[in-house]
Amino acid sequence: MVDYPKFFDAEIETLDREQLLDLQLKRLKWQVKRCYENSEFYRERFKKAGITPEDIRSLDDIEAIPPVTKDELRQEQINYPPLGRYAVAPEDQWREIHPSTGTTGVPVHTIWTENDIENITSWTARTMWMSGVRPGDIVQNGFSYGLWVAGLSCHYAARRIGCFTIPIGATLTERQIDYFIKLKSTVFLATPSYALYLAEKLKEKGVSTKDLSLRLGILGGEAGTEIPSTRKKIEEGLGIDAYDYYGLAEIGPTIASECREKAGIHWVEDHVLVEILDKETRKRCQPGETGVLVLTHLTKEATPLIRYWTNDLAKLATDRCDCGRTHARSPGGILGRADDMIIYKGENFYPAQVEKVVRGFPELSTEYVIKLETNERTGADIVTVVVECLDMSLESENLISAMKKALREELAVTPEVEIVGPGTLPRTEFKAKRILDNRKKV
Ligand SMILES: [Zn+2]
Repeated sequence: MVDYPKFFDAEIETLDREQLLDLQLKRLKWQVKRCYENSEFYRERFKKAGITPEDIRSLDDIEAIPPVTKDELRQEQINYPPLGRYAVAPEDQWREIHPSTGTTGVPVHTIWTENDIENITSWTARTMWMSGVRPGDIVQNGFSYGLWVAGLSCHYAARRIGCFTIPIGATLTERQIDYFIKLKSTVFLATPSYALYLAEKLKEKGVSTKDLSLRLGILGGEAGTEIPSTRKKIEEGLGIDAYDYYGLAEIGPTIASECREKAGIHWVEDHVLVEILDKETRKRCQPGETGVLVLTHLTKEATPLIRYWTNDLAKLATDRCDCGRTHARSPGGILGRADDMIIYKGENFYPAQVEKVVRGFPELSTEYVIKLETNERTGADIVTVVVECLDMSLESENLISAMKKALREELAVTPEVEIVGPGTLPRTEFKAKRILDNRKKV
């Protein structure tokens, strides 16, 4: 019997913040130097900004380096195929390649070396442990395997903790339910939309959560879990305690995760430097202010990113969590995508706010779509929230006016509301697409 260690690393996770910042600075200097020395891409960027690695003497000095966007990484790969000039680690050290989903264009590829895989496995084991996964758990991994980074890394981590792992991925819905029952899975990993989808299927089949052994859900890969009403729906539908996690292909999986306090997602700050920048000025936000999340790899050897502009919105709290960990947290998880912001009649809002309202109506299904169109006559935008009513015998006028009132309270503007029958909207088996933009492009 292997004696599995505990994956709570007190030395690192409760490190005094001053010491943690010292460690980050040491690692940042190492990363900046090797990027400058080994990559034409970074050398060009640094020269343009008028700095050399020697100018990085504090964590604040990194502000002189302009953030890099996904579009710039895509362009770099197009100009210098196949991977651009920022792979940095020599080719004989490459072990795995993982692209971003590429749904909005050319996918951005990341490479993992042996050390990268080791680091990612160890921090993912740490974050899964943080959310309550323990040796002996039966982990049904509903994250997609193959090219998507989360499937394999969570698989490696679950195995390392000492769990029996079911590498099913985000497919085979019937088999998922069958394994829940027959293999007595205790932990389920999935996107929140897939978890909701499975909860709906269980209900359809008349399977009670009392007949399942599930106790824990680790949900990530897209927005959803941070919305209390969505989380509650998943928890009730699958009979689990649900934890939010965040990762992204370009940086790595599970770089932030909730502890048992659920007081925000803790960052793995010994591997990733977290900054929150104002969307317009690109200056650092004050603690507690919402801005764009910008991340820097502190330990990654291949395809390291310095100041990656994620386009995701978050805020940061650096006080010690009640769990004892000193690593910074983002309360409320990821608060939206900077480019998902909808501007309607002079007000800004995000799909997550619409979701919050939709979840407040038990007569609606979990699916919804925000439709953006152009008014042919005036050229103005029309925003319509399309929802499914589970019982079409209900008076739809009453429901529409109640929804409009709730939406106005949340968004400060009133979108149109359209009600369709149950099962009309496309079901999500992987990641939900909530915005349907049919506006005429000028
Ligand atoms: Zn905590």
